[in-house]
Amino acid sequence: MVSTIYIEDSIRGHPRVERICSQFNKAQIVWCDQYTEVFNPKAQNFRLQKRNPALILAAKRDAFVMQVPSNYGLGGEQNYYFSHMLNCIYDCRYCFLQGMFRSAHYLLFINYDDFSTAITSILSDRGSGKPAWFFSGYDCDSLAYEPVTRFAQYFVPFFGARSDACLELRTKSTQIRCLLTQEPFPNVIAAFSFTPPDIAKALEHRVPSVQSRVNAMQKLQRVGWNIGLRFDPLIYVHNYRQHYANLVKEVCSSIDVSRVHSVSLGSFRMPKDFFKTIVKLYPHSPLYAGPVELGADGLMAYADDIKDEMLQYVTDLLLQWIPHAKLFNHEQEQNAISAKKYGLM
Ligand code: SF4
Repeated sequence: MVSTIYIEDSIRGHPRVERICSQFNKAQIVWCDQYTEVFNPKAQNFRLQKRNPALILAAKRDAFVMQVPSNYGLGGEQNYYFSHMLNCIYDCRYCFLQGMFRSAHYLLFINYDDFSTAITSILSDRGSGKPAWFFSGYDCDSLAYEPVTRFAQYFVPFFGARSDACLELRTKSTQIRCLLTQEPFPNVIAAFSFTPPDIAKALEHRVPSVQSRVNAMQKLQRVGWNIGLRFDPLIYVHNYRQHYANLVKEVCSSIDVSRVHSVSLGSFRMPKDFFKTIVKLYPHSPLYAGPVELGADGLMAYADDIKDEMLQYVTDLLLQWIPHAKLFNHEQEQNAISAKKYGLM
């Protein structure tokens, strides 16, 4: 439960602000000029804040939509991402957000209309061609905070009405009510991320169980939504083969794999500076004691032999269920995104 809400003065009275405040009617409201006063100061302890994060409501003023490398994605020629929220209500030990942001507070940009105007402008400038892809789950989980953000409630119909764009909602949550209560759109993909249950128990705190995510996918498929599977990051443990064999079987045997839109995978990797920050926050996490090393691309990742073997093994498992054309290895592409986004290239 949020006990403090920081709000930028400039959005006082905005209907989305009023509605969110009424949902947290016991929260203390603190007005500020700019969210950066609260979110950016250096002397903050992410780990302590994560225990009781505040909510920050702000307006994004620029860089609404970012381009990702042309070879990234799910078969589209143009790929973009946009972030209505920074940070996440879950707490995954491998999450780069802990290393990227100084604050663990949830920062929500409430000016959705400005995002949709920016998306419309990009689409009208680009001319014809295959639909462009928009990825919404880079700096947060797309659906986990839906009861507060109503992000999908706004953006799913927006994308659903367009034939020139596709939206990926990337999530580990079971917040699917907003999808179940509207018609399915073929260009909106609910993509669920998975890690084997024992590894998830150790590294993914507050995240719904694998079984409940599978149940959510089943419900969505039943009413016609496109779903995607994401096995990213793959986490190495000495008996990872057994863990991933069980996971792939559990997930793929429980859904209609013939109607899965896409499957992607990539192994654990993270910019070096983020990695160093997170090790200081969680020095005893088994993840950071594992066989991780600095690569030539400036990212901390598993040694090539481990990484290649894991990717090949899980790819082979998935190919027993999914045709090759639906399988995307995001290893190279996401490295490029991370490196570019965080000034490493
Ligand atoms: S669900 Fe995703 S965004 Fe949220 S903490 Fe885990 S890895 Fe980070």
